[in-house]
Amino acid sequence: LSLDQQLRALVRDVPDFPKPGILFRDLSPLMRDPRAWRLVVEGLAAKVESHRPELIVGIEARGFLVGNALAFAMDRGFVPVRKPGKLPGPVEAIDYSLEYGSDRLEIQEDALAGAPRVLIIDDLLATGGTAAACASLVEKAGGVVCGYGFVAELTELSGRNRLQKNLPIEALISY
Ligand code: 5GP
Repeated sequence: LSLDQQLRALVRDVPDFPKPGILFRDLSPLMRDPRAWRLVVEGLAAKVESHRPELIVGIEARGFLVGNALAFAMDRGFVPVRKPGKLPGPVEAIDYSLEYGSDRLEIQEDALAGAPRVLIIDDLLATGGTAAACASLVEKAGGVVCGYGFVAELTELSGRNRLQKNLPIEALISY
């Protein structure tokens, strides 16, 4: 089996989650399998190395799990981007619109001091709204986005089109 096939076999498709009509790709079984998870983290590290990130930014909550493991594997620092009210101290924030309603992401104001090259990590790219908002927030906080990394991507939703055109977007599994 190819790497792609091995990993795909460990993604669980959950119909009607979190809402009717949505097919949720559950990556939990991938993380539960230490060999598969190592392949995921090392596979992503290999794909993003050439983008020369100095810091890894992970988006709450599953982006923490992927991003922090990747940061550890690449010997880079990790910075969390969180939902409102979770981070202590002064924060920068960005509001963004969802299909129904809006949401907000925050980052600690001093987290990107020195204008580091930042790689944005989440578990999955769907419409791209979350990652695009995170990129705007990183820039607002003084960071330089050097690319994006995801374990999986839902290509039908064209999330790539919502991200900056000139930046690399890496995903291990495409649906
Ligand atoms: P977007 O903003 O790209 O539409 O949605 C991406 C965000 O929603 C990510 O933070 C991701 O964790 C979550 N998400 C949306 N659909 C799925 C899915 O099918 N599986 C997983 N694991 N996460 C999803």
